[in-house]
Amino acid sequence: MVLPPSVPDWMRPRGLPPHRMPSAQALQRLRSGNHRHLRQLSGESAGGDITPADFPYALVVGCMEPGAAGEELFAERPGAIECVRTAGPSLGADAMAAIEFAALVQNVGVVLVLAHPGCAALASARAARRATGLNLSPSLAEWVQTASAGTAGEDPALGHVRALRARLRAADALLTLTRSGQVKIAGGVLDPVTREIAFLPDEPDDFVEECDPPQRPDSTRYGS
Ligand SMILES: [Zn+2]
Repeated sequence: MVLPPSVPDWMRPRGLPPHRMPSAQALQRLRSGNHRHLRQLSGESAGGDITPADFPYALVVGCMEPGAAGEELFAERPGAIECVRTAGPSLGADAMAAIEFAALVQNVGVVLVLAHPGCAALASARAARRATGLNLSPSLAEWVQTASAGTAGEDPALGHVRALRARLRAADALLTLTRSGQVKIAGGVLDPVTREIAFLPDEPDDFVEECDPPQRPDSTRYGS
């Protein structure tokens, strides 16, 4: 039996509250924040608390392309949202370490996988996965594997979010937290024009990867 990963207390930031924000509340707060951002864009004074937050409650895993992700999408207090931005996004070793750090050490309540239509990184990854005779660096070859996940269909951004959400929900290091509902792995697609995020329904995955790596049996059949 594999023991769930644990983090010694000395790794945690000083003063961290003993309990993380309930995951449903954290996800709802992300939704509300994006609505507040849209109202701000329309010229409405949204008000709100601008005092810095002591600790983040959410991690956004988004694409590094300009305007494709960022804290400003949620009109939050400074320090309330943190972002990991890679091309696509992808789930390489450093991205996974950042996600695990946020969930296991910083006690965030929600991890949002965010993609966007028209993503050049996803298009490149999808083309590279189908190409033959490529001589990519090891780093790029690894990136192609996760950045192309779920992109084979007609809606690469949505497919990619679903694929990465399923992978994170099934990740060994996060399984205790995701299965118990302490941390939600959510998904969203950003409209690049309106800046509105279409959140995926908060439900178990029905996504099946078209190829490697194989899905863990039953690992995604839980509520979130
Ligand atoms: Zn992109």
